[in-house]
Amino acid sequence: MSQIRDIELAPSGAHKIEWVRRNCPLLRSLYEDFSNTKPFEGKKIALSIHLEAKTAYLCKVLAAGGAEMFITGSNPLSTQDDVAAALVADGLNVYAWHGATDEEYNAHISEVLSHQANIIIDDGGDLVHMLHTTKKDQLQYVIGGCEETTTGIIRLKAMDKNNQLEFPMVLVNNADCKHLFDNRYGTGQSVWDGINRTTNLIVAGKIAVVAGYGWCGKGVAMRAKALGARVIVTEIDPVKAIEAVMDGFEVMPMKEAARYGDFFITVTGCAGVIDEEDFMEMKEGAILCNAGHFDVEIDMKRLREIAVSKEEMRNNIIGYKLPNGTNIYVLAEGRLVNLAAGDGHPAEIMDMSFAIQALSAKYLVEHESELKEKIIDVPREVDMEVARRKLKFLGKEIDELTTYQTEYLNSSSL
Ligand code: NAD
Ligand code: SAH
Repeated sequence: MSQIRDIELAPSGAHKIEWVRRNCPLLRSLYEDFSNTKPFEGKKIALSIHLEAKTAYLCKVLAAGGAEMFITGSNPLSTQDDVAAALVADGLNVYAWHGATDEEYNAHISEVLSHQANIIIDDGGDLVHMLHTTKKDQLQYVIGGCEETTTGIIRLKAMDKNNQLEFPMVLVNNADCKHLFDNRYGTGQSVWDGINRTTNLIVAGKIAVVAGYGWCGKGVAMRAKALGARVIVTEIDPVKAIEAVMDGFEVMPMKEAARYGDFFITVTGCAGVIDEEDFMEMKEGAILCNAGHFDVEIDMKRLREIAVSKEEMRNNIIGYKLPNGTNIYVLAEGRLVNLAAGDGHPAEIMDMSFAIQALSAKYLVEHESELKEKIIDVPREVDMEVARRKLKFLGKEIDELTTYQTEYLNSSSL
């Protein structure tokens, strides 16, 4: 009953998943634990996350814990058809293919939500949105869910504020072991991996404009500098702007930065960050990409309207000739460059993010009767458990407080 491109691709996908398995010790340890304890026995999980090999291994860990899995991607361009095929060959239910149209993408989400799922694992809010609109009949089966990314959490908080959220959601992104590593080091490395493999151009000596200096922006700017770029940061938050200045970057509005950049990377979660006025200021050959959310950070709609002509230069590079004669190039249609034009974050990073996901899902089923709040932080003990296991796998030891030190830190006297 799955809906995928081609089951014959399964052997290639299985190799990719095995590579991930070998590089994800945390998830491997959870696979073992869950195989013995079966925390999800009798439960159904609906999952929408970028469908590539690391997500596939998360799905296998959850299935090892007894869950019946219903899986789709979270971006039509990040789904890898061989990985989807490998999951189906393993008996999991998958509804996704690379390059799905908007209608197909929504139909796949709808399909995932047609099986009375108890746990929702979401990445940007697509599943939660549909459950609260066209799939309300499925709400009765839901215990709760987990949200993977910053933008999804912004949406959830808005829904909660308006009393619209019908079930509890764990804010996975806000765990220390998620955003401190995934958003910063994961996005930092995988964005430049996506840009480099797609363009095959030099970064050293060029100017990279990074829009947004949150967790992702910090990582992207840090790695741009390490590759030899001069970095300009654009921000709307004065505190983040000071941080960028003190980290050694130029800070200015996009309207000004537009004329300097060789590479533009948006990581804000906001819309219209690079607009028509900015396009018209850009220099010949400027390269634009997004690693924030969906395809709205660069105003692609307007760019397509004003372009005199467009040309596919290489896979994932479209050149747009502007009315003033300048050619600018957009990677991966303005969708997440690290996933649509790469394999996303490295395995060791997703090992931590997905360990938080798996343990948060387990927390939901174990605390089903006590879940009062609609917005739940990842319990501190889950964060600490993931950190402790990761440190052990990194072969690092740390100090422990002595009794004297504990008393000293808890003492109210000077
Ligand atoms: P964040 O909240 O830490 O940072 C976002 C920053 O952008 C903030 O500092 C904010 O002030 C700034 N900003 C907002 N609007 C702006 C604008 N118009 N111009 C300039 N700056 C602006 O969030 P984050 O964790 O860094 O995530 C950013 C986005 O990336 C989110 O959409 C998130 O879902 C997504 N994300 C993508 C990946 C990936 O793999 N590509 C990984 C993690 C998060
Ligand atoms: N629907 C949204 C999803 C936001 S993606 C969109 O595509 O615009 C942002 C999330 O992708 C991050 O929080 C990060 O944890 C996740 N991610 C990054 N690399 C990944 C990978 N290799 N596999 C699965 N998820 C990944």
